[in-house]
Amino acid sequence: MNEGRPRPENYYEARGFSVYYLANAVFNIVSSPGAYLRGIEDILGDMRVLTPMRSFHRYTNLHHFIREISVDIVTEEVDTIDPGHRFLREFLRIFTVPFPEEALEGEDSFWDFARESGRFHDALDELTDEVFHVLFGDVAFLQKFNRLCADYIEMAGFGDELKTRRGTLKRVAIPVWARRAIFYRDKGECRACKRSLAALINRLETERYDHIVPLACFGANDVTNLQLLCEPCNLKKSASEEPVSRLYQRAIPS
Ligand SMILES: [Zn+2]
Repeated sequence: MNEGRPRPENYYEARGFSVYYLANAVFNIVSSPGAYLRGIEDILGDMRVLTPMRSFHRYTNLHHFIREISVDIVTEEVDTIDPGHRFLREFLRIFTVPFPEEALEGEDSFWDFARESGRFHDALDELTDEVFHVLFGDVAFLQKFNRLCADYIEMAGFGDELKTRRGTLKRVAIPVWARRAIFYRDKGECRACKRSLAALINRLETERYDHIVPLACFGANDVTNLQLLCEPCNLKKSASEEPVSRLYQRAIPS
């Protein structure tokens, strides 16, 4: 880590082990949630309840989910007094969280330390942000994650002002930052047919931004639930929920 030079705005620093460990845990939970959760409410229920209903926050549903899982992993390691503390010890080291060795001696001593350590909580936020960037590129994963959110939105009987009579979320304007994020992630191409949509970058053609899990199927207004689709592909999809394309443009063309 280069301590001397301030990080330019809007850059994050990739720090390896803890990020991939946590990204892998989140990926596995979302891929087979039944092994870990009864439903996403086990996690989202702790997410100040209304989170999946909100419209387009920069701290997305996935950020909340990753953050909760990271705390779960730490709790599990501390509770079992796993002498290895494989995740925790590496996390504290890589994210430069100073800690006394006694902090890892048991549950109470750890949480006493964590309560007092501002750096510990900041580091969890930084870790969450890095894991988000690893997973945000994987649209098939995002589809599974957003299905879990959709189950929760369908089930939750509150927030009526945000919902249609059917109980689905109302359509809202997609903010510019969210459109930019999707446009760059999808490299300006329709995800289904790979047609270039580069001419649209500065235009407000919000209909090209498709909800991966449609609003009609209880999808969320969240940037993790968007993809670029050209108009014909979007019309073909309508309110159905097709599998997302798993084809990605090669970084190094063959
Ligand atoms: Zn297309």
